[in-house]
Amino acid sequence: MKKNSVSLLFGLISMALLGQDNRPISIYHLTDNFYVYTTYKNLNGHDFPSNSMYLVTDEGTVMFDTPWDTTQLQPLLDSIWVKHHSKVIMAIATHYHNDRTAGLGFLQQQGIKTYSSKMTYDLCHLNGEQQAGFYFEQDTIFKVGDYLLETYYAGEGHSPDNIVIWFANAKILYGGCLVKSIENNNLGNVVNANIKAWTTTIRKLIRRYSTAHFVVPGHFGWADTKALRHTLRLLRQYRKVNGG
Ligand SMILES: [Zn+2]
Repeated sequence: MKKNSVSLLFGLISMALLGQDNRPISIYHLTDNFYVYTTYKNLNGHDFPSNSMYLVTDEGTVMFDTPWDTTQLQPLLDSIWVKHHSKVIMAIATHYHNDRTAGLGFLQQQGIKTYSSKMTYDLCHLNGEQQAGFYFEQDTIFKVGDYLLETYYAGEGHSPDNIVIWFANAKILYGGCLVKSIENNNLGNVVNANIKAWTTTIRKLIRRYSTAHFVVPGHFGWADTKALRHTLRLLRQYRKVNGG
């Protein structure tokens, strides 16, 4: 009995700790040299997950967006070093909100080249978010090691500036917050969204990336490539209720 109460107490203490501190980073292997990592931000007492990705190449590791939870920046770099013996050399942020950009300053301090679109760069400045060191003014293909990273702006949606990244080698679409997970039953944060344009934007992505094997949304699970169609459904549902 005594043993049980001790372990129950321990369970309660660790739950309390979990409530106070954000959960640590989780790293998942997606395919080939592509990884999804999730950090958690405590919002109204709940740990809210945010997905980002990284790719390990012969030239070094590229990060796509930064941890939302900035206490996980150094642990992420350390984990990448321990797991892959690879240094992070570059990062691309996919829109200006801080679940994508919170680590840009830290990464730059480490000598890592950080990029975003010009629109994101300007919106970061306007909204007091961290800016990338470099920006691109149009859709850009980066070649790193054997990999092509294609940035694509399909139009407004979750935010005015949201871009996606296409990894042609592995047919992965990194959708960021523009794409909702099939685990979501609403559009989430729509404060800076353009609901009407969002539908057109997603339709463009469905046409352009019909061969995608993976579609990774900004939050929650990425098990299903139907995330794009699911986002359209959520948009339709939102417009039915709210108009627009
Ligand atoms: Zn987001």
